[in-house]
Amino acid sequence: MKTIDADVVVIGGGSTGAGVVRDAAMRGYKAVLVERADLGQGTTGRFHGLLHSGGRYVVSDPESATECAEENKILKRIQADAIEATGGLFVTTDVDAEDFADGYVKACNKAKVPVQEITMKEAFRREPLLNRRSKRAFAVEDGTIDGWKLVWGAARSAELYGAEILTYHAVTKIDNHEGQVSAVHCLDRRSGEPVVIGCHFVLNCSGPWGGEIAAMAGCHDVEVVPGAGIMIAMNHRLTQSVLNRCIYPADGDILVPAHPVCIIGTTDHKAGDADDLPIPRDQVQQMLTAGEVMIPGFRNARAIHAWAGARPLVKDSRVSAEDTRHMARGMQIIDHQQRDGVKGLLTIAGGKLTTYRLMAERIVDAMCEQLGEQRKCVTADEPVPGSENHKLYTLDRRLKQVETETKAPSGQQIICECELVTRGKLMEAMRELPQFNLDDVRRQVRLGMGPCQGGFCASRAAGIAQEEDIIDIERASELLRNFLKNRWIGLWPILYGEQVRQTALDSWIYEGIFDLEHLPEPMKEVI
Ligand SMILES: Cc1cc2nc3c(=O)[nH]c(=O)nc-3n(C[C@H](O)[C@H](O)[C@H](O)COP(=O)(O)OP(=O)(O)OC[C@H]3O[C@@H](n4cnc5c(N)ncnc54)[C@H](O)[C@@H]3O)c2cc1C
Repeated sequence: MKTIDADVVVIGGGSTGAGVVRDAAMRGYKAVLVERADLGQGTTGRFHGLLHSGGRYVVSDPESATECAEENKILKRIQADAIEATGGLFVTTDVDAEDFADGYVKACNKAKVPVQEITMKEAFRREPLLNRRSKRAFAVEDGTIDGWKLVWGAARSAELYGAEILTYHAVTKIDNHEGQVSAVHCLDRRSGEPVVIGCHFVLNCSGPWGGEIAAMAGCHDVEVVPGAGIMIAMNHRLTQSVLNRCIYPADGDILVPAHPVCIIGTTDHKAGDADDLPIPRDQVQQMLTAGEVMIPGFRNARAIHAWAGARPLVKDSRVSAEDTRHMARGMQIIDHQQRDGVKGLLTIAGGKLTTYRLMAERIVDAMCEQLGEQRKCVTADEPVPGSENHKLYTLDRRLKQVETETKAPSGQQIICECELVTRGKLMEAMRELPQFNLDDVRRQVRLGMGPCQGGFCASRAAGIAQEEDIIDIERASELLRNFLKNRWIGLWPILYGEQVRQTALDSWIYEGIFDLEHLPEPMKEVI
C-alpha cells in the first residue's frame, strides 16, 4: 500500500477539480487531485465547447450571466491556448418571437454582458449559411473552448506549485475520524495498488457523482441531479462564430464551431445514472431539426459523432425532480460541517465550465475560512503553462506549424489528416503519458476527432507506438480495439446517409484488412 500526506485532497479531475487543485496549490497548500479516469473524462469532456459570453443567461439567470462575462475575459487572459475567440451571434429566426429580442439588449446591459445589434446584412456577411429569413442579430463575445486543454493547463500549472495529479485513481473510501475527515482511500486502477492519502481537508469536485463521494464520508442524501444532454458534431464548420437563437434557453438552440467541425446541442433530461447516458434517436432527430432552423440544409451535412454529458445540478425544490431544464444552474457549495456535522469536507456542484476558475476561488475561500487562514486567490493573475504568450488559439494554427516548423521530416509526417496531427506531436503525447491508451492520446492531440473518426489515423498511431518500442504488438492491437469500440458508442446513434458509408469503410479496413478481432490479446488488461 502506498501512502501520501497532503493538506487537501481534491476529488474529481474535471474542470472544477483542476481549477480547485490549481487554486489550492497556488495558495501554498500541499494538494493532491485524484481522478478515477483521465482528466476531463466526465462532464468536462462531454460538453458543448462554448465559452459563454453570458448572453445565454441574461434573462433566465442574470447573476450567472454576469459571472460568465467576467470569467470569459479572465480565461482569455490565462488560458488563451484553449480558447478560440470566434465571437457569437444571438439571432431571431423566422420562427422566434420578436418580443424576446426587444428586451434582450436591455437585459444584457443590466447583466453587464457586452452586446451590439448588427444589421442582417452584416450578419449574413459573417455567416453566409444563416437562415435568410432571420430578422434580428446581436453580436456577443462568445468563444469556443477546448475542455481538455483547459483542464491539463490548470493541472500543469498546479504541478508547478507542488500539487500531485493522480489520474486513474478511484476513490473508494473517506475516513471520518470523530467527525473530522482524515484520509482518502483510492485504488490505482492501473497497478491495482491501494493508495491512502492522509489529509485535513477534502474538496469534493466530482460533478454528477458528488452525492456518491459525500456518502463515502458519511454525508448522505446529497442530491446532485445529473441533467443529461446530447450533442452532435457535424463534419465541417457550418458557422464561423457561435450561433444562438435569441429565445429563452431551450433545446438545440446553439451551434458551436469547434476545431474543424461544428456542434449542435443540446437537450436536458434527468438521467438515472451519470455513468450510463443514452443517446436516444428521437433526441438526435430533434437536434438535426433544430439545426435546420438556424442553417437551412443542416441535415445534408454529415453527422460524425454524438455524445452525452450530465450537468451536475443541485436539486432545486422550486421545480419538479425531473425538470432539469429549469433547475438553477448557479454554483453551490455544500458545507458538510453545517449540514452533517462532518468537519473538513466541502462539496461543490452546479456552475459551468466557463466559470470553473471562479468556482474554485469560492470553494478554496470557504476552506480557508474554515481553517481560519487568510490566503488570497491569485489564479486570475497568471497564465497556465502553454498560454504564457497570451495567443488565443486559431483554427489555422496547426497548418501554420506544419508549414513553418523545421523539425526532422519524419516528425512532420501527418498522421491524422482531419486534425493535422503530426508524428512529432503524437510521439510527444505518447511519451508524456505513462501507460496511455489511445483515448488519452486523443484528448491531448485530437487524434480521430475529425470527419473520419479514426478510420485512417488510429491504426497508424498504434503502429507507430509499437514501431517506436513504446508498447508491444499485443498491446498495440488491444489499444486499437479499445479505441474503435469507444468511438463506436458515438457513431451508432447517428448512422444515416453518408456517415453509413464512412463507417462501413472504416469497418472494412479494420475487420477486413487487419482482421482486428482476431489479433493476439495482451497479457495485461487495458484500462
Ligand atoms: C450537455 C452539456 C453541455 C454543456 N455545455 C457547456 C458549455 O458549452 N459551456 C460551459 O461553460 N459549460 C457547459 N456545460 C457545463 C459544464 O460542462 C460542467 O459544468 C462542467 O464540465 C462540470 O465539471 P466538473 O468538474 O464539475 O464535473 P466533471 O467534469 O464531471 O468532473 C467530475 C469528475 O469526478 C470523477 N469522479 C467521479 N467519481 C470518482 C471517484 N470515485 N474517484 C475519483 N474520481 C471520481 C469523474 O470521473 C469526473 O472526471 C455543459 C454541460 C452539459 C452536460
